[in-house]
Amino acid sequence: MKITDVQGLYLRLPEIQARTDSSQDALIVRVATDAGITGWGEVDACPHVAKAIIDAPVSHTLVSGLRHLLVGEDPRETDRLWERMYEGTLYFGREGAVIQAMAGIDLALWDIKGKALGEPVYRLLGGGYRTTVRVYASNLFQETPEATADRARAARDAGYTAVKFGWEPFGEDPDRDCAYLEAIRGAIGEDMELMLDVGHAWDAWTTLERARLFDPYDLFWIEEPLHPDDLDGYAMVSAQCETPIAAGEEECTVAGFNRLLDVGGVDVVQVDPSRVGLTQAMTVAVLAQTRGVPIVNHNFTTDINVAASLHLLASVPNAFILEYCTEPGELCRSLARNPIRVTDGHAAVPEEPGLGVEPDPAIIEKYLVRA
Ligand SMILES: [Mg+2]
Repeated sequence: MKITDVQGLYLRLPEIQARTDSSQDALIVRVATDAGITGWGEVDACPHVAKAIIDAPVSHTLVSGLRHLLVGEDPRETDRLWERMYEGTLYFGREGAVIQAMAGIDLALWDIKGKALGEPVYRLLGGGYRTTVRVYASNLFQETPEATADRARAARDAGYTAVKFGWEPFGEDPDRDCAYLEAIRGAIGEDMELMLDVGHAWDAWTTLERARLFDPYDLFWIEEPLHPDDLDGYAMVSAQCETPIAAGEEECTVAGFNRLLDVGGVDVVQVDPSRVGLTQAMTVAVLAQTRGVPIVNHNFTTDINVAASLHLLASVPNAFILEYCTEPGELCRSLARNPIRVTDGHAAVPEEPGLGVEPDPAIIEKYLVRA
């Protein structure tokens, strides 16, 4: 089997709001083969940049677009093709957008491999640790504590047993922050787990102070309180906070996760398959496991990423809960013809060959941005 084409398709909601909501657009990746099998992946990055990295022509052996490196190759050789992409982009890659574009293609290659072999991806990854994964409803803070509490109540009423809120306007004012957490806790009661995503709003000292202040709200984890470059700060808060510290969504390389674990000492590692790729994510999971650290996914995009995350979390022993974006936008909710369903706060790991979700051509057509 040979790859015949690699395309990045940029999908975008008609109106993009200026807030930290990556569910408003998507770069999905389509890999075609001469066997008639099509693989689908997704990149959560700057879509135009990732698309250019796929499309760029070859300049020399260390500078090439990703399509050029892949056409004519066997899509099932996922490890070798990861290495081929890494070496063929060495002058401008090794981190950031190039790795993220590689990750999106890697998901599509695993989708093809599963479809070719008639197996769900988790089985090819050696998995089967779980057939369902507990899910938390992942939300952005709303403009008021009351509107945020409504979101929390809706999650509880839909059967979720855990809920997360993140980003602006949280983090700037301790009194307002407490008003938010008070309203959410009041809406969901004592039994439901509550995670907080701070969105890099604090330094280490502020994090320690706020963690003490928020003690009555019984947070399950505090996510990304610090800038991702502040590894010494992460080391300090991870050592001193009683509440577990989660981070990792800004990382896309094994080396980055190594630093986060060994220097930052975080308690929960968050891996986004659409930025890391399943091939690397399995290595990251082992790194975390050898340090006694659990991994979870990061996901704020479409069901392609949700499906890839489910296969990852089903394939490693040290995984435990799935992030599921509950923003109402049609791209994250309706891209797949066979969307991932959350029932009683759990999602089933897809059993269909490949990743187990197929994009709906009508949704692609509706939101496709043509260059
Ligand atoms: Mg986050």
